[in-house]
Amino acid sequence: MEPATPEMPPFEFAKRDYPLAPATLYNIGGPARVALLPRTASEVEQAYRWMIAQPGPKLVLGGGSNVLIADGGFDGVVFFTTHLTGLEPLGGGRYRIGSGISLGRVVRDIMLPGNYAGVGALTGIPGSVGGAIYMNAGTVNGSTCEFLESVDLMGPGGLRSEAVTPELYSYRGQSFCGLYEVILGGTFRFTPSGEDQRAVYDHYMRRRREKQPQGLCCGSVFKNPPNDHAGRLIEACGLKGLRRGGAVISPMHANFIMNEDNATFADVLGLIQAARDAVRGRFGITLETEVRIIGGEV
Ligand SMILES: Cc1cc2nc3c(=O)[nH]c(=O)nc-3n(C[C@H](O)[C@H](O)[C@H](O)COP(=O)(O)OP(=O)(O)OC[C@H]3O[C@@H](n4cnc5c(N)ncnc54)[C@H](O)[C@@H]3O)c2cc1C
Repeated sequence: MEPATPEMPPFEFAKRDYPLAPATLYNIGGPARVALLPRTASEVEQAYRWMIAQPGPKLVLGGGSNVLIADGGFDGVVFFTTHLTGLEPLGGGRYRIGSGISLGRVVRDIMLPGNYAGVGALTGIPGSVGGAIYMNAGTVNGSTCEFLESVDLMGPGGLRSEAVTPELYSYRGQSFCGLYEVILGGTFRFTPSGEDQRAVYDHYMRRRREKQPQGLCCGSVFKNPPNDHAGRLIEACGLKGLRRGGAVISPMHANFIMNEDNATFADVLGLIQAARDAVRGRFGITLETEVRIIGGEV
């Protein structure tokens, strides 16, 4: 039996056969059957209610900086948070921030002017606030959920707000966003720092420019295993520079797989599998992907 595919909803903010490749930093992947790009609270509610009633697969997308999408596209509904850009200062270092705002803007427009502590944790990470909360994005200096007081979610039961406590998040993950829930935003709490955060920002931006390859990619492909680095393990297997079609394991950083020349989903996936097999064979460690693979098994 054919999988059920959604009908077209009667919303001006709904698009059919919407190209997903340009919505991702890999620039790979076919179209979404239906894309929803709501702007207002009432559109969010209409969009969500409609989406959740559809039989096929559903996906939420923010900045597309941590996804690898199949060339065949996504035969379901994609809910984009792009336009959920509300930003409300609440006083005392607290801000209610919409999921569609870029994390870079949070750093530049909130943390730096307030000289708030923690710039080193969030500097240089692409993507949206919603994606950063979902992934608990961060660096060795800290992660997004550490700054979160509460998160606003839309789920099958409607709108809800949940207090965020440390046991609800971990390295590149959290447990408060349930299946088919959309993070609409969150209340962040920042505290002033005694250290010059502009200098911290400049330092980490410079480090990224020096140590990270530039181009189409998803950042780190694999999570770091406990007490080690995925990049070190892949490099030790001699895989830097390995190519599949238009994709390459970066000669600069082995945990980055670049779309160098019109790479396909299969090209990148092939390198992911090659790296995982080599590391498992040599070190007995099974690397877990950090990138979200949409529409293919690895
Ligand atoms: C050059 C480069 C450098 C990077 N450096 C870092 C780094 O230092 N640290 C780090 O942690 N990451 C890093 N990343 C990865 C990526 O930027 C982060 O994971 C980022 O937080 C993803 O946000 P996004 O909005 O792009 O999410 P997307 O790629 O759009 O989505 C990622 C996942 O989150 C889900 N999601 C997104 N928004 C929502 C929402 N509102 N509600 C529910 N689910 C949602 C999606 O369904 C998907 O599963 C890097 C990526 C690149 C390209």
